[in-house]
Amino acid sequence: MRYLSTRGRCAPVEPARAVILGLAPDGGLLLPEKLPALPPEALLRKDDIARTAGILSAFFPDIPNLAGLTARAYAGKFPAGAMTPTVEAGEFEVLELFRGPTSAFKDVALSALPHLLAAAKKVCGEKKPTYILTATSGDTGKAALEGFRDVPGTRICVFYPQGGVSQIQRAQMVTQPGENVTVRAVEGNFDDAQSAVKAVFRACRGRALPAELSSANSINIGRLVPQITYYCRAYRDLVDRGRIKMGEKVHFAVPTGNFGDILAGFLAKKMGLPVGKLLCASNANHVLTDFLRTGVYDRRRPLQKTLSPSMDILVSSNLERLLYLLLEDPEIVRGMMEQLEEQGVYTLPEAARRMLEAHFWGTWCGDGDALAEIGRVWREWGYLCDPHTAAGFYAAEQYRRQTGDQTETVVLATASPFKFPAAVLTALGEKPEEADGFRQLRALEARTGLPAPENLTILETLPERHTGSLRREEILPFVLDQLEKERNLP
Ligand SMILES: *Cc1c(COP(=O)(O)O)cnc(C)c1O
Repeated sequence: MRYLSTRGRCAPVEPARAVILGLAPDGGLLLPEKLPALPPEALLRKDDIARTAGILSAFFPDIPNLAGLTARAYAGKFPAGAMTPTVEAGEFEVLELFRGPTSAFKDVALSALPHLLAAAKKVCGEKKPTYILTATSGDTGKAALEGFRDVPGTRICVFYPQGGVSQIQRAQMVTQPGENVTVRAVEGNFDDAQSAVKAVFRACRGRALPAELSSANSINIGRLVPQITYYCRAYRDLVDRGRIKMGEKVHFAVPTGNFGDILAGFLAKKMGLPVGKLLCASNANHVLTDFLRTGVYDRRRPLQKTLSPSMDILVSSNLERLLYLLLEDPEIVRGMMEQLEEQGVYTLPEAARRMLEAHFWGTWCGDGDALAEIGRVWREWGYLCDPHTAAGFYAAEQYRRQTGDQTETVVLATASPFKFPAAVLTALGEKPEEADGFRQLRALEARTGLPAPENLTILETLPERHTGSLRREEILPFVLDQLEKERNLP
């Protein structure tokens, strides 16, 4: 099996090479030339490690011993037996993806990616260390740090905006252990940090560096594929509990930002899982909702800061992969992506929009509706959810109400409510303690009688290891200096 670019302008590459590259050389994203098929028994295996390893092997056949790799990647990080449990909440089922080390769904993929990358480098004979450079608005940075920590042949450096992340998010990052991790605050906001990191990538292009620069964002196929697995597990759990019969369709409501998670659901469907509709849940940055309804993708609008920051996105990178899978024509995809870059907008041909409609449905909710949803789901169904997951509940309900379609629906829960205690307390009618995240955490525990995840409560007691901060113009020299040190490492 080989991988092709969604923009069609580069030679096919081996699977391991696709993981190393991340982005295709022509600026497109990489996908297998033909999606692998797996027998239903393999997709629906109960054992998380065996099932995940089976899916990874189907996509990366040239990487050996994926069972061992998968076990190593997840051992001790997720609850054994059910990494991603499915629980009942009123009219819906909830697939909890936040049981990992940083209490956000990104843990599932970012636990596997570093190990896949290390193995892919071995397959391709790449000796240079990989230097992961990431700017974060909060969640990705911590999940990436936790995933790459102490993985041989890798080093990770995370920049976060000083004052731009919550107290708990900051504590998650500055207490990060690991021999190969660096964290620095950057003066300014997230856009400042992000543009400074992009400038480093530009400045390093073409230079002979002692390490390969890479980023941990979700354009890497090695980050997408490990997400297929939990759709399969949720389906199997519903069958086992008698909620559905084998073969019956199930809808999934997915809180969406960069379109990675929901695309993994689409890949699961393409591989044979009986998925009905994928309900795309957005917040006030509802570019995707508009796109699904009209076929026009228009990013020409201001980015709004919301209570669901991981969905505050105007350009959903992984949508490009969906367009490629629907249109099966890289020239059209390339044209649309060029229009997006140059004019900020493109229009999908009507035939393709109808195909899209067969698989996807979208809606969005603002912060007010998200808070109301958190409160209602807690009062009526006794389930506590975070603001991202609330958008998923909202979409599931709106879809059911507007279409009358009673098909069993699974809401993906993408973060622990205890990661956003101020918003959740507000939703429950409390006045959160001003600015002290840890007091808010305890107040939410007291209010609900639910325990906060230990990885969050323990932060208050951990030593701060990374307290340095940089001005924007100091970032490039700092990174170059760090890279030079790689020369002297074994
Ligand atoms: C990243 C994230 C999302 C969005 O997932 P995408 O794959 O980017 O669409 C939703 N919720 C939470 C909590 C996240 O961290």
